Amino acid sequence: MGPVISKILSLYNVNRESRTTNHETRTMITTVVFDLDDTLYDEIDYCRSGFTSVSEFIANLPGSPTAQPIFDCLWKHFTTGNRTKTFNTALDQLGIDYDDKFIGELVKVYRNHTPKITLPTNSKDILDQLNGRYMLALLTDGFLPAQQLKVQALGIEKYFNCIVYTEELGRDCWKPSPVGFEKVMEILNVKSQAAAYVADNAKKDFIAPNKLGFMTVQIIRPARIHTQSSDQADAAPQYVIHKITQLPDLFG
Ligand SMILES: [Mg+2]
Repeated sequence: MGPVISKILSLYNVNRESRTTNHETRTMITTVVFDLDDTLYDEIDYCRSGFTSVSEFIANLPGSPTAQPIFDCLWKHFTTGNRTKTFNTALDQLGIDYDDKFIGELVKVYRNHTPKITLPTNSKDILDQLNGRYMLALLTDGFLPAQQLKVQALGIEKYFNCIVYTEELGRDCWKPSPVGFEKVMEILNVKSQAAAYVADNAKKDFIAPNKLGFMTVQIIRPARIHTQSSDQADAAPQYVIHKITQLPDLFG
Protein backbone atom coordinates (compact mmCIF):
# COMPACT_ATOMS: atom_id res chain seq x y z
CA MET A 1 0.00 0.00 0.00
CA GLY A 2 1.45 3.38 -1.03
CA PRO A 3 1.99 6.17 1.51
CA VAL A 4 -0.70 8.41 0.00
CA ILE A 5 -3.31 5.67 0.15
CA SER A 6 -2.44 4.66 3.70
CA LYS A 7 -2.67 8.30 4.75
CA ILE A 8 -6.07 8.65 3.15
CA LEU A 9 -7.24 5.41 4.71
CA SER A 10 -6.05 6.39 8.16
CA LEU A 11 -7.88 9.71 7.79
CA TYR A 12 -11.11 8.13 6.78
CA ASN A 13 -10.95 4.78 8.44
CA VAL A 14 -13.94 5.31 10.65
CA ASN A 15 -15.56 3.26 13.39
CA ARG A 16 -13.26 0.30 13.00
CA GLU A 17 -13.15 -0.27 16.74
CA SER A 18 -16.88 -0.69 16.98
CA ARG A 19 -16.91 -3.40 14.34
CA THR A 20 -13.95 -5.49 15.31
CA THR A 21 -16.15 -8.58 15.40
CA ASN A 22 -16.55 -8.47 11.64
CA HIS A 23 -12.93 -7.58 11.04
CA GLU A 24 -11.57 -10.32 13.27
CA THR A 25 -13.12 -12.86 10.96
CA ARG A 26 -12.11 -11.07 7.75
CA THR A 27 -10.55 -13.45 5.29
CA MET A 28 -8.94 -12.54 2.01
CA ILE A 29 -11.29 -10.59 -0.25
CA THR A 30 -12.32 -12.79 -3.18
CA THR A 31 -15.44 -10.93 -4.28
CA VAL A 32 -16.08 -7.29 -5.01
CA VAL A 33 -19.69 -6.14 -5.24
CA PHE A 34 -20.37 -2.76 -6.81
CA ASP A 35 -23.24 -0.35 -6.59
CA LEU A 36 -24.02 1.33 -9.94
CA ASP A 37 -25.18 4.95 -9.73
CA ASP A 38 -22.55 7.43 -8.58
CA THR A 39 -20.19 4.53 -7.92
CA LEU A 40 -19.13 3.41 -11.41
CA TYR A 41 -20.28 6.55 -13.28
CA ASP A 42 -21.77 9.98 -12.50
CA GLU A 43 -25.53 9.63 -12.08
CA ILE A 44 -25.98 13.30 -12.98
CA ASP A 45 -25.08 12.30 -16.58
CA TYR A 46 -28.02 9.88 -16.58
CA CYS A 47 -30.33 12.58 -15.24
CA ARG A 48 -29.19 15.01 -17.97
CA SER A 49 -29.84 12.33 -20.57
CA GLY A 50 -33.29 11.58 -19.11
CA PHE A 51 -34.35 15.23 -19.02
CA THR A 52 -33.14 15.65 -22.62
CA SER A 53 -35.43 12.80 -23.71
CA VAL A 54 -38.36 14.21 -21.76
CA SER A 55 -37.79 17.69 -23.29
CA GLU A 56 -37.84 16.19 -26.79
CA PHE A 57 -41.03 14.27 -25.97
CA ILE A 58 -42.80 17.42 -24.77
CA ALA A 59 -41.48 19.51 -27.68
CA ASN A 60 -43.05 17.06 -30.14
CA LEU A 61 -46.54 17.71 -28.75
CA PRO A 62 -48.66 20.30 -30.61
CA GLY A 63 -48.29 23.87 -29.36
CA SER A 64 -45.18 23.17 -27.25
CA PRO A 65 -42.02 25.25 -27.10
CA THR A 66 -38.83 23.79 -28.60
CA ALA A 67 -36.83 21.25 -26.62
CA GLN A 68 -34.03 23.55 -25.44
CA PRO A 69 -36.07 25.95 -23.25
CA ILE A 70 -37.97 22.96 -21.83
CA PHE A 71 -34.70 21.22 -20.96
CA ASP A 72 -33.24 24.42 -19.48
CA CYS A 73 -36.26 24.83 -17.23
CA LEU A 74 -36.29 21.18 -16.08
CA TRP A 75 -32.54 21.25 -15.47
CA LYS A 76 -32.66 24.50 -13.52
CA HIS A 77 -35.25 23.08 -11.10
CA PHE A 78 -33.55 19.70 -10.80
CA THR A 79 -30.07 21.06 -10.18
CA THR A 80 -31.31 23.54 -7.61
CA GLY A 81 -32.68 20.74 -5.49
CA ASN A 82 -36.23 20.06 -6.72
CA ARG A 83 -35.96 16.29 -7.00
CA THR A 84 -39.57 15.23 -6.39
CA LYS A 85 -41.76 17.69 -8.34
CA THR A 86 -39.33 18.66 -11.11
CA PHE A 87 -41.80 18.04 -13.95
CA ASN A 88 -44.73 19.79 -12.26
CA THR A 89 -42.72 22.89 -11.33
CA ALA A 90 -41.12 23.21 -14.76
CA LEU A 91 -44.44 22.76 -16.61
CA ASP A 92 -46.04 25.38 -14.34
CA GLN A 93 -43.28 27.80 -15.21
CA LEU A 94 -43.45 27.01 -18.93
CA GLY A 95 -47.23 27.53 -18.91
CA ILE A 96 -47.90 24.00 -20.19
CA ASP A 97 -51.12 22.38 -18.95
CA TYR A 98 -50.79 18.93 -17.37
CA ASP A 99 -52.52 16.40 -15.19
CA ASP A 100 -51.30 13.42 -13.16
CA LYS A 101 -51.60 11.14 -16.19
CA PHE A 102 -49.29 13.37 -18.25
CA ILE A 103 -46.74 13.49 -15.40
CA GLY A 104 -46.93 9.67 -15.31
CA GLU A 105 -46.16 9.60 -19.05
CA LEU A 106 -43.12 11.84 -18.56
CA VAL A 107 -41.83 9.60 -15.75
CA LYS A 108 -42.23 6.65 -18.13
CA VAL A 109 -40.29 8.45 -20.88
CA TYR A 110 -37.52 9.22 -18.38
CA ARG A 111 -37.23 5.67 -17.02
CA ASN A 112 -37.50 3.97 -20.41
CA HIS A 113 -35.20 6.21 -22.42
CA THR A 114 -31.97 4.79 -23.83
CA PRO A 115 -29.42 6.74 -21.83
CA LYS A 116 -26.49 8.53 -23.40
CA ILE A 117 -23.92 7.69 -20.74
CA THR A 118 -20.43 6.24 -21.00
CA LEU A 119 -18.25 4.37 -18.56
CA PRO A 120 -15.51 6.68 -17.23
CA THR A 121 -12.02 5.56 -18.24
CA ASN A 122 -10.83 5.01 -14.66
CA SER A 123 -13.87 2.80 -13.89
CA LYS A 124 -13.17 0.78 -17.01
CA ASP A 125 -9.49 0.44 -16.07
CA ILE A 126 -10.38 -0.77 -12.57
CA LEU A 127 -12.97 -3.26 -13.80
CA ASP A 128 -10.42 -4.56 -16.32
CA GLN A 129 -7.83 -4.82 -13.56
CA LEU A 130 -10.09 -6.57 -11.01
CA ASN A 131 -11.72 -8.86 -13.57
CA GLY A 132 -10.22 -12.33 -13.31
CA ARG A 133 -8.54 -11.58 -9.97
CA TYR A 134 -11.85 -11.29 -8.09
CA MET A 135 -15.39 -12.39 -8.62
CA LEU A 136 -17.31 -9.25 -9.48
CA ALA A 137 -20.96 -8.50 -8.85
CA LEU A 138 -23.32 -5.58 -9.32
CA LEU A 139 -26.06 -4.85 -6.79
CA THR A 140 -28.30 -1.94 -7.62
CA ASP A 141 -31.58 -0.45 -6.46
CA GLY A 142 -33.82 1.52 -8.74
CA PHE A 143 -36.63 1.13 -11.20
CA LEU A 144 -36.59 -1.36 -14.03
CA PRO A 145 -35.98 -1.08 -16.91
CA ALA A 146 -34.00 2.10 -16.11
CA GLN A 147 -31.25 0.21 -14.28
CA GLN A 148 -30.95 -2.43 -17.02
CA LEU A 149 -30.77 0.27 -19.71
CA LYS A 150 -27.96 1.99 -17.78
CA VAL A 151 -25.99 -1.29 -17.58
CA GLN A 152 -26.46 -1.83 -21.33
CA ALA A 153 -25.44 1.74 -22.20
CA LEU A 154 -22.30 1.52 -20.06
CA GLY A 155 -21.42 -1.87 -21.60
CA ILE A 156 -20.48 -3.37 -18.22
CA GLU A 157 -22.52 -6.57 -18.16
CA LYS A 158 -19.50 -8.60 -19.31
CA TYR A 159 -17.53 -7.75 -16.15
CA PHE A 160 -19.95 -9.26 -13.65
CA ASN A 161 -20.37 -12.85 -12.50
CA CYS A 162 -23.74 -11.78 -11.16
CA ILE A 163 -26.02 -8.76 -11.38
CA VAL A 164 -28.78 -8.30 -8.82
CA TYR A 165 -31.46 -5.71 -9.51
CA THR A 166 -33.17 -5.47 -6.12
CA GLU A 167 -36.34 -4.25 -7.87
CA GLU A 168 -36.71 -7.76 -9.32
CA LEU A 169 -36.80 -9.19 -5.78
CA GLY A 170 -39.50 -6.76 -4.64
CA ARG A 171 -39.63 -3.08 -3.69
CA ASP A 172 -39.05 -3.96 -0.02
CA CYS A 173 -35.71 -5.51 -1.06
CA TRP A 174 -34.17 -2.13 -1.96
CA LYS A 175 -31.28 -1.17 0.31
CA PRO A 176 -30.99 -1.05 3.28
CA SER A 177 -32.60 -4.50 3.02
CA PRO A 178 -30.05 -7.34 3.28
CA VAL A 179 -31.94 -9.50 0.75
CA GLY A 180 -29.97 -8.38 -2.32
CA PHE A 181 -26.66 -8.96 -0.56
CA GLU A 182 -27.76 -12.43 0.57
CA LYS A 183 -28.78 -13.17 -3.01
CA VAL A 184 -25.29 -12.26 -4.29
CA MET A 185 -23.68 -14.47 -1.60
CA GLU A 186 -25.97 -17.35 -2.55
CA ILE A 187 -25.42 -17.03 -6.32
CA LEU A 188 -21.62 -16.71 -6.01
CA ASN A 189 -21.38 -19.09 -3.05
CA VAL A 190 -19.25 -16.60 -1.15
CA LYS A 191 -19.06 -15.79 2.54
CA SER A 192 -19.61 -12.16 3.56
CA GLN A 193 -16.15 -11.97 5.20
CA ALA A 194 -14.56 -12.53 1.79
CA ALA A 195 -16.66 -9.86 0.09
CA ALA A 196 -16.48 -6.08 -0.23
CA TYR A 197 -19.28 -3.70 -1.14
CA VAL A 198 -18.30 -0.52 -2.97
CA ALA A 199 -20.97 2.19 -3.10
CA ASP A 200 -21.62 5.91 -2.61
CA ASN A 201 -24.69 6.54 -0.46
CA ALA A 202 -23.88 6.72 3.26
CA LYS A 203 -27.56 6.89 4.14
CA LYS A 204 -28.59 3.45 2.92
CA ASP A 205 -25.81 1.53 1.13
CA PHE A 206 -23.69 0.23 4.01
CA ILE A 207 -26.21 -0.74 6.72
CA ALA A 208 -26.92 -4.26 5.44
CA PRO A 209 -23.39 -5.19 4.30
CA ASN A 210 -21.95 -3.90 7.61
CA LYS A 211 -24.42 -6.08 9.49
CA LEU A 212 -23.65 -9.11 7.32
CA GLY A 213 -19.86 -8.69 7.70
CA PHE A 214 -18.81 -7.34 4.29
CA MET A 215 -15.91 -4.93 3.96
CA THR A 216 -17.65 -1.65 3.08
CA VAL A 217 -16.07 1.06 0.95
CA GLN A 218 -17.59 4.44 0.13
CA ILE A 219 -16.47 6.15 -3.03
CA ILE A 220 -16.99 9.90 -3.06
CA ARG A 221 -17.28 11.20 -6.62
CA PRO A 222 -17.12 15.00 -6.97
CA ALA A 223 -20.36 15.17 -9.00
CA ARG A 224 -22.35 12.86 -6.69
CA ILE A 225 -26.05 13.47 -6.15
CA HIS A 226 -26.49 12.08 -2.62
CA THR A 227 -24.37 13.98 -0.17
CA GLN A 228 -26.20 13.25 3.09
CA SER A 229 -24.79 10.92 5.71
CA SER A 230 -26.77 8.99 8.31
CA ASP A 231 -26.98 9.39 12.07
CA GLN A 232 -27.18 5.62 12.39
CA ALA A 233 -23.90 4.28 13.77
CA ASP A 234 -24.12 1.13 11.65
CA ALA A 235 -24.61 3.11 8.41
CA ALA A 236 -21.03 4.38 8.13
CA PRO A 237 -18.67 2.73 5.63
CA GLN A 238 -15.48 1.15 6.96
CA TYR A 239 -13.36 2.89 4.30
CA VAL A 240 -13.76 6.06 2.28
CA ILE A 241 -11.94 6.71 -0.98
CA HIS A 242 -12.14 9.59 -3.46
CA LYS A 243 -10.92 7.78 -6.56
CA ILE A 244 -11.99 4.39 -7.83
CA THR A 245 -8.33 3.73 -8.72
CA GLN A 246 -7.62 3.47 -4.96
CA LEU A 247 -9.65 0.24 -4.75
CA PRO A 248 -7.02 -2.43 -5.56
CA ASP A 249 -4.80 -1.25 -2.69
CA LEU A 250 -7.64 -1.83 -0.23
CA PHE A 251 -8.02 -5.48 -1.09
CA GLY A 252 -4.34 -6.25 -0.52
MG1 LIG B 1 -25.43 4.74 -5.79
